Amino acid sequence: MPVDDLSKIVSLCKRRGFIFQSSEVYGGLNSCWDYGPLGAELKRNVKDLWWSEMTRRGNIVGLDASILMHPKVWEASGHVENFTDPLVDCKKCKQRFREDKVEVKGKCPACGGELTEARSFNLMFKTFMGPIEDSASVVYLRPETAQGIYVNFLNVQGSMRQKLPFGIAQIGKAFRNEITPGNFIFRTREFEQMEMQFFVKPGEDEKWMEYWKEQRMAYYVGLGIDANKLRFHQHVKGELAHYAKDAYDIEYEFPIGWQEMEGIHNRTDFDLKRHMHTSGKNLMYNDEVTNEKYIPYIIETSAGCDRSLLAVLCDAYREDPANERTVLSFSYKLAPIKLAILPLMKKEPLEGYAREIYDTLFKSTKYNMQYDVTGSIGKRYRRQDEIGTPLCVTVDFDSLEDKAVTVRERDSMAQERISVENLPSYINQKLGI
Ligand code: ATP
Repeated sequence: MPVDDLSKIVSLCKRRGFIFQSSEVYGGLNSCWDYGPLGAELKRNVKDLWWSEMTRRGNIVGLDASILMHPKVWEASGHVENFTDPLVDCKKCKQRFREDKVEVKGKCPACGGELTEARSFNLMFKTFMGPIEDSASVVYLRPETAQGIYVNFLNVQGSMRQKLPFGIAQIGKAFRNEITPGNFIFRTREFEQMEMQFFVKPGEDEKWMEYWKEQRMAYYVGLGIDANKLRFHQHVKGELAHYAKDAYDIEYEFPIGWQEMEGIHNRTDFDLKRHMHTSGKNLMYNDEVTNEKYIPYIIETSAGCDRSLLAVLCDAYREDPANERTVLSFSYKLAPIKLAILPLMKKEPLEGYAREIYDTLFKSTKYNMQYDVTGSIGKRYRRQDEIGTPLCVTVDFDSLEDKAVTVRERDSMAQERISVENLPSYINQKLGI
């Protein structure tokens, strides 16, 4: 049974150390979440897979730009002027909403009360650089990582001697003062983005847009996400951002409905042109083959790390009442723990032997492991199923005699007897990531 209710994911995440509410001992901070030990591993896997997908192509290089940038960046990008949501207040219950998300216009979705006129609300977080809190020292927490790439375009291109088409990939925090955050980690005010900006010759942009649409969809399917729960949504005229010539979202069918997970945008030469104009610096590309100078077009793939992680969790979640278990059927490459070593009983010499096996595997494989000896073996299997561990290795009394162990696979629950001597190669081959 797949997941029908986000609250099941929220409670599993808390119970099993994936995600906790931020500052929980103080009652929590609205829309802020902390990744616990398993969540941190899962997130690392989500990011590492994206990073190698992008940067192991030969024509995409990485960047790690700072969160605080010159305030002029956000004037040039249009964020100071345009990065706003229409905010309405309910005159009766005083709750706030994004007007574009209110279904019955003019009526409060919570109590049916009358709503105020919409006001523009800028989503950028402001802070001050240095000790003086005046308008001259205002800086913003970046609302997207992309601008760090645009302003470094020529630094990267020149230092890495890149020729068009080429891309720059970046993973990092972004901040948006969302009016209505919520749905767990789906919409938060602090989140991580995985963005890649691909610089192409004008005229070749439409071809590359098609290419990246196809690549990005294939990527999510390759992560093990159910293809029936993925689709494109093309932005129609009124939806298109001010910078975009064409835009598609990759949507996933979350328990809260179809929602955007990644945006793929044809940003034209908008960004580099604006930065050229505002900074007064020449950001043209010098095409040595054709001897032309021009401003490249940009195809952007902009994914939310936290949203991808939520999609991965929702997609992996299964209730299996026949076997009285809940399973996270992640693809093996995403699972935070790959292997559990379980001595059948908390007893010597069984435990000593199981420890020995653990130590050998620790040295001869590269995978995250857990050693668990508490509770019945059935309970321990259920615990590992619930955190998505692909393989459990059980050491029993026969193991002491036949020097073999039982390896149980998470999804099929199939068990195989494997000699301890062959265990490292068996595991390496089985996980083979
Ligand atoms: P939305 O319409 O949901 O507000 P957006 O169209 O503004 O999103 P983009 O600016 O295209 O989003 O950002 C790219 C990606 O960053 C999104 O697809 C999403 O995965 C992620 N993202 C954006 N805002 C948030 C947020 N508040 N919390 C978590 N992830 C976010």
